[in-house]
Formats: sequence, structure tokens, C-alpha cells
Amino acid sequence: MSSRDIVTITDVYDNVPLDQRFKNEPLGLSLVIESRAGVTLFDTGGRASVLLENLSAADIDPATFKRVFLSHAHSDHTGGLRAVLERNRQLTVFAAASFPGMIREEVTAMGAKYVMISEAVEIADGLWSTGELEGIAWEQSLVIVAHGGPILVTGCAHAGLVDTVRLAARLVGRAPRVVLGGFHLEENTHEEIEDISERLHVMGVVKIGGSHCTGQKARSLMRRRWGDGWIELGAGARISIC
Ligand SMILES: [Zn+2]
Ligand SMILES: [Zn+2]
Repeated sequence: MSSRDIVTITDVYDNVPLDQRFKNEPLGLSLVIESRAGVTLFDTGGRASVLLENLSAADIDPATFKRVFLSHAHSDHTGGLRAVLERNRQLTVFAAASFPGMIREEVTAMGAKYVMISEAVEIADGLWSTGELEGIAWEQSLVIVAHGGPILVTGCAHAGLVDTVRLAARLVGRAPRVVLGGFHLEENTHEEIEDISERLHVMGVVKIGGSHCTGQKARSLMRRRWGDGWIELGAGARISIC
């Protein structure tokens, strides 16, 4: 296996704390994904200054980014976009079609490329958007086709975690082996969370890590339920997956 087959995900913005050297406030999510398609920034956190500080703590230069993938238009996922564009105008921004026109104008005015996503599509080698899914907010999730099986990354999973995993499985012909991101389970009951874990397990999910809007309760229930399959995601986490 070459290093080309390894996917590395670095959590550079997360309200869930993990590594003391990384800031974890205010609310938001941003992940740097290195795969055979190059470097993708998944969402941009809430506050630009925090994103930039954390990127430098992780020793990641925004000039290396090939693209920015924006899951949905909430400000805790788009807040750092401008600061990233100021440091890299060569990149392509992939946003869901429902994004406000303002964001598109800002991106194109700065000379970067803007691609609107509505249907599921392969945006780069081994990188798929689920397409825009209906939920509290319209949201797209990212599927990375990796050596050991697909990896699903969600911003807030506003369309529902189980439905998003099911759709990702249909899209790439195999259930995601790894699921990472914000799961939006703060309002769910103990029973509902256990049921979600069970369904994901039955579908074929082997490893899972929720942070951002997943919620304390869901995180501790899932940590117990998944055992070795639980991935600690939080500001400063660096995860390598083959
Ligand atoms: Zn969020
Ligand atoms: Zn959200």
C-alpha cells in the first residue's frame, strides 16, 4: 500500500476540545482531508481567526488546498471561507445549490471557482458529494472512496445520520466503513441514539466519531456502544485511515 492510499483527516476547527494546543471556541467545524485527490477543506468553522490559528498549530498551509467543500450554509461552517480565499484563490468551492447568492458572489469576486451541487456527483478522484439532502438545513455530505472502504464525512447531518449513511452506501455501492463529523443528536433520546448506532452497525459501519453538534450524551453513549470502533474527534484530532 502506498501513501496515496492513506486518507488523513485533521480536525482544525471544532467546539469539542481534544488537543490543548488547538482553540475550540466558538461553535463550528472544519476538517482538512488529505486523499489521493489532494487536500480538501471540509467546511471552514465559525470564526476565521480561530481557523487560521488552528491551521498553523497543525502546520497546514491554506495555499495547499485544492478545494473547499461546504456542507451547508450555516455560519458555523462557512465563517472562515473568506480568510481561506484570501490565502488561496486557485481553489474550487463546492457548495450546495441552496446556498445564498452572496457566498457565490464573494467566491467568484475573489477569483476562485464556484461549483453548485444539487445531485450526487464525483467532484474529484475518489471524492463524492451525496448531493443536496433535505433537512432542517439543506446539506451535502462527502464520501471518500478509500482503500479499506468508503469514509463518510458529515457537517451536521441535518438530513438524518441513518438516511445519509444509507444514501452514501447506495452512491458508492458499499456502506461507509468509517463515519465522521457532526451528527446533530443533541435532541435525541437515549433509546433513539442506541437505535441509530444499531442501524449503522447493521449497515456495515465499523468506525465512527461524532463531534461538533453530536452532543455530550450521544458522544458518551456511542463511545460505550462502539468501543474500539469509536474515534475521538475534536479540535486537533489527526486521523489516518487506509
Ligand atoms: Zn454546525
Ligand atoms: Zn448546521
